[in-house]
Amino acid sequence: MDTSDWGLATRMVHDGTMRSQFGETSEALFLTQGFVYDSAEEAEARFAGEAEGYVYSRYGNPTVSMFEERMAALEGAEAARGTASGMAAVTAALVAALKAGDHIVAAGALFGGCRYVVETYLPRFGVEATIVDGTDLDAWKAAVRPNTRAFFMETPTNPTLSLVDIAGVAQIRDALAPEAVIVVDNVFATAMWQHPLELGANVVVYSATKHIDGQGRCLGGVILSSKEWVTEKLDVILRQTGPAMSPFNAWVMLKSLETLPLRLRTQTASAEEIAEAVAGHKAVKRVLYPTRDDHPQVELARRQMLKGSTLVAFEVDGGREAAFEVENALRLVKISNNLGDAKSLITHPATTTHQRLTDEQRAEQGIGPGLLRLSVGLEETADIIADLTQALDAAAGMPRMRSAG
Ligand SMILES: *Cc1c(COP(=O)(O)O)cnc(C)c1O
Repeated sequence: MDTSDWGLATRMVHDGTMRSQFGETSEALFLTQGFVYDSAEEAEARFAGEAEGYVYSRYGNPTVSMFEERMAALEGAEAARGTASGMAAVTAALVAALKAGDHIVAAGALFGGCRYVVETYLPRFGVEATIVDGTDLDAWKAAVRPNTRAFFMETPTNPTLSLVDIAGVAQIRDALAPEAVIVVDNVFATAMWQHPLELGANVVVYSATKHIDGQGRCLGGVILSSKEWVTEKLDVILRQTGPAMSPFNAWVMLKSLETLPLRLRTQTASAEEIAEAVAGHKAVKRVLYPTRDDHPQVELARRQMLKGSTLVAFEVDGGREAAFEVENALRLVKISNNLGDAKSLITHPATTTHQRLTDEQRAEQGIGPGLLRLSVGLEETADIIADLTQALDAAAGMPRMRSAG
């Protein structure tokens, strides 16, 4: 059935559904490793790829397929593959794109695991890596070599929400390294607010653990690209190395996609209001939110993102001590390094997610001791703002307002 006329919210409820002979309303969970065949001839035909059907859940599973098809609809991609985690998605996508003797250019501001894969793991297998300042297109350009076969970036970046110009990197690829694939980790922007494939990227990856699950339950990942790249480059890696998504996790996330537009619209509207409220507090030195007028790359943000998404970063006066005071004074917002949850979560990157970097590397990425990163949840916006305000008041040594509740 062609569903392309439907709006996104409709497609996130219906796309990809495959009903069994029982006609269930809600998608079934096929928690099975294998599949049985009616005859020896049928088994032979499926293994030969001559008959349709599943053979083993490392290769494919009906619940995982439903999740993949709904994800492809969300992204506007020809094909999607689920994986066990976001890191499994990133690793599989890069392994599929590269071989010994190839070169990759990547932005330095990356999720810790992604940076390890690019900088430490790939070179062990003979792939050269150049790390650049992702905000500087000239640096991307200067890093290209005759053997460059991949570009990798995350935008907005964690935790300072700086941006990479995806279309700009695509122009560099087209001019200097047409064989290279651009892989974008689109976790922070989400599929709702940024469409890397339309901007010239070849492959999009997600940690589905974040907004796609959206309620802090399961780990998962997704890789999206053209049908050709997925079937010719990626499938063999997934099948033979085994980073398969659990059908249970796929089922949870398939159901989550039904509410993804609803959740992201609410959380994003809330984040915009919260950024404004926090920016107005006297304990706050600066706020970083992509689509705000005071973001250093606001023009690019408005060009390449539909909305600023659900994360807000801000720097408090008084460094680490003040940042810790804010965190410890919060009552509603929880301290956690995770993000994209229904619960609002705050983290102090310098002492958690970015603890292992040197002071110099942190300074390079703009991660000061007073920086906090907030992932906006689904609570009432006014409650989140009230909680942040009383905590910032405490850090600024101001008398705290009593909570009305
Ligand atoms: C969380 C995250 C990952 C890794 O995903 P996991 O599901 O934890 O393996 C990769 N990139 C970004 C931007 C992330 O936020």
